[in-house]
Amino acid sequence: MKITNLSKTYRPKKSLPVQALKNANFCLADCGMVFFLGKSGSGKSTLLNVLSGLDKADNGSSIEVSGKDLCKLTKSELDDYRNTCCGFVFQEYNLISELNVEENIALAIQLQGQKETNNNVKEVLTKVGLDGYEKRKVTELSGGQKQRIAIARALIKDPDIIFADEPTGALDKSNGDNVMSLLKELSKDKLVIVVSHDKEYAATYGDRIIELEDGVIINDSASDTPCNSENASHKQWNKSKLPLKPALKIGCSNFKRHPIRLIITLIMSVITFSLFGLSINISMMNPYKSFINAVYEKNLEYTAIYKYQEVENSNTGTFDQLIGGDKFVYNELCLSKSDINLLQNKYDLQLNLICSAYIDSFQNSIAATVKQLNKIIPISSDHLSLFADGFMYMSLSECRNMNFEITGRLPENENEIAINECMLNTFSVAGIKENGQTYPINSAGDIIGHSISVLVNTFTNGKPMPNNGKFGDSDIKTIVGVVDTGCDKKCSESHPQSSSIMYAENYHEKIFISENCFDEWSYILCNITPNKSNFKSFANFVFDYNNNNNVFRFSNSIMTDGNMEINAFYRSIDYINMDKNLYTYIGIILLIVSFVFMINFVATSIFGQTKQIGIITSLGANFRQQCKIYLYSSFIIAVVVYLLSIIFTAVGSVLYNNYIVDFSNVSFDLLKFNPALIIILFAIDFTAIILGCILPLKRLRKMSSVEIINKGAIK
Ligand code: ADP
Ligand code: MG
Repeated sequence: MKITNLSKTYRPKKSLPVQALKNANFCLADCGMVFFLGKSGSGKSTLLNVLSGLDKADNGSSIEVSGKDLCKLTKSELDDYRNTCCGFVFQEYNLISELNVEENIALAIQLQGQKETNNNVKEVLTKVGLDGYEKRKVTELSGGQKQRIAIARALIKDPDIIFADEPTGALDKSNGDNVMSLLKELSKDKLVIVVSHDKEYAATYGDRIIELEDGVIINDSASDTPCNSENASHKQWNKSKLPLKPALKIGCSNFKRHPIRLIITLIMSVITFSLFGLSINISMMNPYKSFINAVYEKNLEYTAIYKYQEVENSNTGTFDQLIGGDKFVYNELCLSKSDINLLQNKYDLQLNLICSAYIDSFQNSIAATVKQLNKIIPISSDHLSLFADGFMYMSLSECRNMNFEITGRLPENENEIAINECMLNTFSVAGIKENGQTYPINSAGDIIGHSISVLVNTFTNGKPMPNNGKFGDSDIKTIVGVVDTGCDKKCSESHPQSSSIMYAENYHEKIFISENCFDEWSYILCNITPNKSNFKSFANFVFDYNNNNNVFRFSNSIMTDGNMEINAFYRSIDYINMDKNLYTYIGIILLIVSFVFMINFVATSIFGQTKQIGIITSLGANFRQQCKIYLYSSFIIAVVVYLLSIIFTAVGSVLYNNYIVDFSNVSFDLLKFNPALIIILFAIDFTAIILGCILPLKRLRKMSSVEIINKGAIK
């Protein structure tokens, strides 16, 4: 090694430059024990650092090693030089306390890209007299033992040069002698450079003593040493490699050291992150889409469509309105022929739109009292109806689509009706009363030709009764047919008697009338089954329709539980939309909070790893390998936060769904875990982690190796 014009000036940011080395010139042989001797602050460590490539010398200096000038190399090439040629022994031992003896030693050759074998670890341990200490924790060793492990670590690399900075500084005399004789032993075939302020050691062990004072060589016991590099090794300098396992172990060691901090920040990160996930999940809620999906999932056969007028709620000032719900009042309207045409023409008429009007009764024509019938109804195996659910117009083909069997025919004018099988059952039991006479009914055929009085019920809950005058309070209609709608006793239980329920949204218990009986209709029954694939676009059209504040609304068994009014689902949509806005804002705030949390968490936990990074830097790990320690441990945080957040977001979504479903009285899920969250949470989580890494990594990149080591040593 040939050193020419070697100078080193420190330029601290806040004070004047310090010239720690001044124009040193000397040569070092390839083996032997050289002491740099001097008082504290004389520049010994500085000299050692530049010779080992831990620090850069001033311009104009030259350090020739194996035909290369260290002063002209990049930081990364200097890392390779250290990785291949140099071993280090520090005053403070610089062992990684999270790794055991064996792992500490093995790390040196793992970085060289070699596989550690039990044999070579054992071999170096034997050399330093600590055979059998492989599995020991570093913290359970004495100072002298630690220093010998450090020597073993230097030794296993089979370096050309061993640099030892005050190796006995923290040891007592006997341990110090021990370490010195060990180094002396090694100096037979290696260059061992020892920095010391102890003249006695230098005199006892040194083959050569170079004395320093204020950065100047004031004495050299062998200044005539020739710069012979003939037998200097010309090994290939290798890039360092840090395997996953030690990188993870070192990276995560910091978590172990501050478990409370780890747990608290993890919990906070997961909470804020999960709440963020839940918030954006809520803000992506689409109740209409949920309804359409539910129709398919639950195999709903039909749904009713109503028409409403949307009026701004004049009753302002309620809390509900203040927060965005209850903006409108909905007045129910009847559907006109043009509304029906609009719906029918919009989508392929496979949709089979069927119209129905409201309640009426035919009790005057039953040849029995209600009291008598009420005794029979429970014991009858058939469904007997005393009321009709309303008037319904269906074409013959629509009846066929529904598999309704017709005896006789469908009505053709407003004086004709067809009754349903439930009415027929009642007449079969009680007989029919016509013009003061009673006739027995045994079959569907028997009733055709008879006339009954159809009483239009005015009990319509304030809703306009569709009536163009053709149906009076009590009209006599001729029965021209019986339509079997497939309503048995069990089916009838799912649609209780018309007197007890407003909205008989089903095909059963209706009196069939001709198309022109009414100009307006209360609602439409929409049979989905024949053309399910059209339903989605049809439903979207219905949801989106708004003509001068006239809107259509679906109503069916999955939207209301029978006792709820039709608007329940829609009112809850107002609240859901209000929630969506609210949760979007909450989500943005939570996003920022969780971002700051995670970046801060990652940054602080990896700044806590400077010591370990300093150690592997001295062993020759380059920037990339140093980054691995940060990245692997951060990645673990990211994965933990990610997985837990996904789980909690999913659980939160289920809970929120239960709440909102309860509130809305619907029987389908309104909020499901949106698979997009898997990607959104992943992207944000890992962006935060990467940002959290960039900060410390940028700082790491700027620091010289010796700065990293010194910074780590202070910790
Ligand atoms: P020794 O190891 O002989 O005690 P050093 O080589 O550590 O001495 O230091 C030599 C001189 O350089 C001292 O005056 C010290 O204050 C100064 N010095 C060392 N490191 C730095 C640094 N990073 N920044 C500024 N000055 C430094
Ligand atoms: Mg020093």
